Amino acid sequence: EQLKFIRNFSIIAHIDHGKSTLADRIIQFCGGLTERELKEQVLDSMDLERERGITIKAQSVTLDYHAQDGNTYQLNFIDTPGHVDFSYEVSRSLYACEGALLVVDAAQGVEAQSVANCYTAIEQNLEVLPVLNKMDLPQADPDKVAHEIEEIIGLEAHDAVRVSAKSGLNIDLLLERLVRDIPPPKGDREGHLQALIIDSWFDNYQGVVSLVRLFDGTLKKGDKIQMKSTGRDWEVTDIGYFTPKQNSTGILRAGEVGFVIAGIKDIQGAPVGDTITHTKTKDVPRLPGFQKVKPQVYAGMFPVSSDDYEDFRDALEKLALNDASLDYVPENSDALGFGFRVGFLGTLHMEIVQERLEREYDIDLLTTAPTVNYEILMDNGDLVTISNPSKLPDMANVSEMREPIVRATILVPQEYVGNVISECVNRRGVQLDMQVLGSQMQLVYELPMAEVVMDFFDRLKSISKGYASLDYSFERFDAAKLVRLDILINGERVDALAVIIHRDHAHSRGRILVDKMKELIPRQMFDVAVQATIGGSVVARSTVKALRKNVTAKCYGGDTTRKKKLLEKQKAGKKRMKQVGRVEIPQDAFLAVLKVN
Ligand code: GDP
Ligand code: MG
Repeated sequence: EQLKFIRNFSIIAHIDHGKSTLADRIIQFCGGLTERELKEQVLDSMDLERERGITIKAQSVTLDYHAQDGNTYQLNFIDTPGHVDFSYEVSRSLYACEGALLVVDAAQGVEAQSVANCYTAIEQNLEVLPVLNKMDLPQADPDKVAHEIEEIIGLEAHDAVRVSAKSGLNIDLLLERLVRDIPPPKGDREGHLQALIIDSWFDNYQGVVSLVRLFDGTLKKGDKIQMKSTGRDWEVTDIGYFTPKQNSTGILRAGEVGFVIAGIKDIQGAPVGDTITHTKTKDVPRLPGFQKVKPQVYAGMFPVSSDDYEDFRDALEKLALNDASLDYVPENSDALGFGFRVGFLGTLHMEIVQERLEREYDIDLLTTAPTVNYEILMDNGDLVTISNPSKLPDMANVSEMREPIVRATILVPQEYVGNVISECVNRRGVQLDMQVLGSQMQLVYELPMAEVVMDFFDRLKSISKGYASLDYSFERFDAAKLVRLDILINGERVDALAVIIHRDHAHSRGRILVDKMKELIPRQMFDVAVQATIGGSVVARSTVKALRKNVTAKCYGGDTTRKKKLLEKQKAGKKRMKQVGRVEIPQDAFLAVLKVN
């Protein structure tokens, strides 16, 4: 294709506004797949993505579009995840594009991630086309939402295309608009090869597959290439694009987006953000890469059965091949044995990793409550960073503790603003700004990250009937009065249950936590004491009362099939329990701290 007939674009949206559905509709319209092949949402191909209805990894598709001007355009588009945990993937995808469709649900209006992702696109000089989706819904109010886009984002939207990704309404108009308004890529196809790796993943059969955008030059099968970061040479064994099926074309040219395979077996050999050149022109400069993402949330993960430790380590290694943001180091807990401390982008990322490990690798895991990174300034001037409460040094030698602070932007209809403000205050938030934007309010707060990663998002949703939306990013570390709250079970400190919290909240949260534990720890044949302590002194206690022996006998009765079922159920439940001393502690108890607000 000539450059002027290429359009590279992304679709950005707040979660659930219809990005993936629109992507499918566009693929179908351009004939990339038949109705039957389309089946369900093809882009959300990972099982987990389909089940949860979210997009985790960005995907790319190349399509032919026969426009009304009689020309055939090559559309390269990249689906992006919409959740706040994955904004890193979004900015990466946008790097390969000249334009973006900003999909906004015409019944729901602008939400926090519509704004955040749109600004990322504008910062990268992309042409952003607003699209009003879900026009088939009776509640759709496109005039109001167009106005909101202008008010909140500052993007001209009165003539935004109004579509229904579900019914296919106006998809033809949208594609015409896309071809008209999104500029074609620039690049010199005769020039020296300069290609950017947007994403790399490991495939069991093909080795490392890299998604690339060519800025200059032409790349063919059989070419000798060099990776700028490692200086290593490789030979291209396969090259082409996704339709979304993998389609080998033997060639990619400047302006295009596609895959390259070069016999690389280790993902470090083709890192995301790296530049590919031809070996013969290896002095071509590197393209600006991407910032390395840092994990924001850490949790201990332990195999329920210690026999699974080796398998667990292998599984983490494999998973990390496809997930550059995953970070892990071995960890040893008195209570839970050998495991790993794993770093995540957020709690959703954590849940997804845990599910993938259990589902794809068949390992039962116990996960501790997530925690953020803390900076500890010691009396001797050393600065230590910890991501595990039980690793907190002796407080006698600590001169200051610092916690991460985020800047959070919340969009919410006016009637719920009061609720949101008191929730933010409860969580030690400091208000920076409050503005009326269209029919919504925008609140900007600085909040301790620890308060945000807990259950803030769920709480926001529940106090706003689901209308509030949130976006946040790390700002800095600030000194804070923090303490470690320990949990003792029958007098024994359980290291994996320790949490770091603010001193002013320590007593009340300690109280709620022991009450929650009491509900979650199954009754045993003896009383179980649960205590919360700070620096050795008890701040709250509760008791899990012993079972009376005849209760179990009675409830099993004489019905043997029922008894069998019950035993099976118990066995399944046991999978996620850990014996600590004489007491069995279930998974939920380790996460109880998430529910104390
Ligand atoms: P994403 O999170 O932005 O990728 O959103 P999805 O494409 O997964 O869509 C979220 C939900 O909205 C799904 O239940 C879709 O079926 C639904 N949806 C998407 N587009 C439309 C539309 O045009 N009309 C209606 N009524 N529902 C839609
Ligand atoms: Mg999606």
